Amino acid sequence: MLKIYNSLSKEKETFSPIRPGHVGMYVCGPTVYSNLHLGNLRTFMSFDMIFRYLLHLGYKVRYVRNITDVGHLVGDIDDGEDKIAKKARLEQLEPMEVVQRYTVDLHDILNRFNLLPPSIEPTATGHIIEQINVIQKIIDNGYAYESNGSVYFDLAKYNQDYEYGVLSHRKLEDMVGNSRKLSGQSDKHNEHDFAMWKRANSKQLMRWPSPWGDGFPGWHTECTTMSTKYLGEKFDIHGGGMDLKFPHHECEIAQGVAYTGNAPVNYWIHANLLTLNGKKMAKSSGNNILPGEILSGASPFLSKAYSSSVIRFLMMQTHYRSIMDFSDDAIFAADKGYNRLMKSVETLQKLEAGGMSTLDILPWRNNCYEAMNDDFNTPILISQLFEAVNFINLLKNKSASLIATDLDLFTRLMSGFVYDVLGLGKTSEINEGHNEKLDGTINLLIEMRNSARADHNYVVSDQIRDGLEMLGIQLNDAKEGTTFSY
Ligand code: AMP
Ligand code: ZN
Repeated sequence: MLKIYNSLSKEKETFSPIRPGHVGMYVCGPTVYSNLHLGNLRTFMSFDMIFRYLLHLGYKVRYVRNITDVGHLVGDIDDGEDKIAKKARLEQLEPMEVVQRYTVDLHDILNRFNLLPPSIEPTATGHIIEQINVIQKIIDNGYAYESNGSVYFDLAKYNQDYEYGVLSHRKLEDMVGNSRKLSGQSDKHNEHDFAMWKRANSKQLMRWPSPWGDGFPGWHTECTTMSTKYLGEKFDIHGGGMDLKFPHHECEIAQGVAYTGNAPVNYWIHANLLTLNGKKMAKSSGNNILPGEILSGASPFLSKAYSSSVIRFLMMQTHYRSIMDFSDDAIFAADKGYNRLMKSVETLQKLEAGGMSTLDILPWRNNCYEAMNDDFNTPILISQLFEAVNFINLLKNKSASLIATDLDLFTRLMSGFVYDVLGLGKTSEINEGHNEKLDGTINLLIEMRNSARADHNYVVSDQIRDGLEMLGIQLNDAKEGTTFSY
């Protein structure tokens, strides 16, 4: 029986979906204003593993992961500039050019790291009318108010009728006591009320007409709107990174309750952060590695390039609820472990059945399922897979044997856990074959560029560098030589 740690109760609970055999799962997707870093990838990979395991168990899963293309403001506060609008302003692009560029990058990276596509990938800008309808209903229900062209959620009113803070276990009274007072100019009645709709100023490019004037929707509102649209007013699983628990998910719960009168989600799952040198990996701080840099090795934090499966293997060695610190040593060790496991899986596929079974596969199978059913414990599953490597060695050197049906079961279980649940090998191997060729071609061009520079033929050397850049491949010249990233 599958048990899931629910952030709401802070306990592992037996999973019981609303509709037997079906699972509705919503995960907050990225804000597409910059490249995905390895921390973001870890969160999406954790939910990919959960999606894969639910499918493996035979559930029919509708997995919705949104794309935030408006409404997420700098600093996660109501008065900041929209992250996408800011990027567009700095780069003199249309906001939708920013969105397009980073959505393409997102899909490319997630595909290269073998994440399954979600069932639905809705965008905030594609659901403006639905968001306006949700906001209007919440105003009608008495839990939001219009003020100077913006609409705010009325937390004080909500907290009178329900309880705010059930997920993060914070009390509104304490928050109010600890916060700065409202400045005279604020449109809000209370400091902690949050924006569901913001009035657009005259320079704002991203704006839509609404009953309250031209404006744009708030970040929390898009997730409430798109999750209920595709999964219903109450659904099974809602996930995201740990840092979204408060205020984003707390506000989603309040909106859901204010909208329908009931809590919107049964199981809240939060994936923990990836740190680099002990500090949170973040887009803004420079303390990050891009997934593409893992594949090319072009990062000061790495001594060489690694395949996408090795990073998957490394990430699956840590439980999704634990903080994971990335280091060059850790990925180096994971590379060795991964190769040992995959060689063994290949060997298993070539083994021949014996006349009798001297190994009992069933207790091992139970251990694997017990690990995964215990809140998706992939590190324990991996230790069981290495137990299987020992079995395979015994079978290979004829110290043990399995009859055909047992060998077939063993092979299917190994493939199921390694390829389908953990998402290692297979598809990504194909991708990596393609990358190897591309990487070889780029290295050849770098050599040609070096020769051209040695001959003072800067027209050709610049042509190579600029041509590669047009294709999204950056060359980085350093004392030790030229590296590349894409
Ligand atoms: P963002 O695009 O910043 O909204 O982030 C997309 C997802 O990545 C969210 O679920 C975040 O919680 C998650 N995330 C951001 N930084 C990290 C990190 N360092 N480690 C793991 N997940 C992260
Ligand atoms: Zn969200």
